[in-house]
Amino acid sequence: MTTQSKESVGKTEKPSILEHTEHSLIRWFVDREFPKYRAKQVLCAIYQRRVDSFLEMTDLPKDLRTKLDESFCIFKTKTAESQQSEDGTEKLLLELPDGGRIECVLRRDGPRRSVCLSSQVGCAMGCVFCASGLDGVDRNLTRGEILEQALKLQRMLEPEERLSHIVMMGMGEPLANLRNVLDALDVARDSEYGLGISPRRITISTVGLPPSIDKLAEAHSPFQLAISLHAPNDELRTRLVPVNKNIGIEAIMAATERYFAVTSRRLTFEYVLLKDLNDSPQCAEQLVKLLRRRTAMLNVIPYNPVPGLPYETPSSEVILEFRRILMEGGINVMFRQRKGNDIQAACGQLRRLREREPQIVSLTSNV
Ligand code: SAH
Repeated sequence: MTTQSKESVGKTEKPSILEHTEHSLIRWFVDREFPKYRAKQVLCAIYQRRVDSFLEMTDLPKDLRTKLDESFCIFKTKTAESQQSEDGTEKLLLELPDGGRIECVLRRDGPRRSVCLSSQVGCAMGCVFCASGLDGVDRNLTRGEILEQALKLQRMLEPEERLSHIVMMGMGEPLANLRNVLDALDVARDSEYGLGISPRRITISTVGLPPSIDKLAEAHSPFQLAISLHAPNDELRTRLVPVNKNIGIEAIMAATERYFAVTSRRLTFEYVLLKDLNDSPQCAEQLVKLLRRRTAMLNVIPYNPVPGLPYETPSSEVILEFRRILMEGGINVMFRQRKGNDIQAACGQLRRLREREPQIVSLTSNV
């Protein structure tokens, strides 16, 4: 299956170097009497030159290469499965050393190379239509585990291609793991030694947790924020997104306004269209009222059915009518195409499927 002989994979208890910040890595080098500029050299090799093992870092002295190889691994996960869709979307199911499984996706869209990353193993939010949260949350991912997903997907690109966008829309609720998500995204945006992705091209998607949105605003977060709204009123939202019960749409709207006031980052609302649940003309009209006066973009996404769940995608007539009402209401709306339809590309789907059908083998073997 997966060939990882050249990769520095953590089979032993060695820590991953991805857990280090530039600062803590410099300290590690200085403590061992290596020059501190070596830290940046190593980080550039991993994040920019896509080197997979310390022993291949031939621009470093041999004793340092050996020392690094004895002390750290780079990757901690095993690629349990990889799927490729006809439209170029690729999805990885990664297995963590403790057995937890997470998903991440690479999308090719014109010149864009976007990755969708997970922030937790499972999810505690309990959105009724989503596969990720069906068994609750196991744990937060570390900064290194979040970065490792981006690096594994980056290594699937052609040498001349670069990652251009990150969306935190995989498994988990990023604002419930804010510290590690922000630490990982700092490396993603760093152009000196990191991935060099502009923060305008990095989106944090959330179910809408006002205290964490305020923390992001206080930290002058440079990232785009997407709120998974999915309903125009509290009664319906609480049915679809149960954590809404103790939050409420009004509190979320107020928090997003505070975020916008501080960061001037355009807000996006996500709305997954579910047949006969939130796809009526009345819902569209209520949405118009809710969003009309806001500097926001509405992303309408047709539901990607999850095997075993009773939810369905609306017909194209219903989707068109929904769209007409929003556009006539003056809403800045985008109807997103589903990508990766022929693979299990929606949040948590692949992991769920594999837990139910563990006998299925991997589709490709070159990752
Ligand atoms: N917890 C965060 C991020 C992860 S989910 C959040 O709620 O935003 C990313 C987005 O995918 C959310 O908008 C979520 O509601 C949506 N989603 C989950 N399952 C889906 C499915 N089967 N089809 C379409 N969208 C789905």
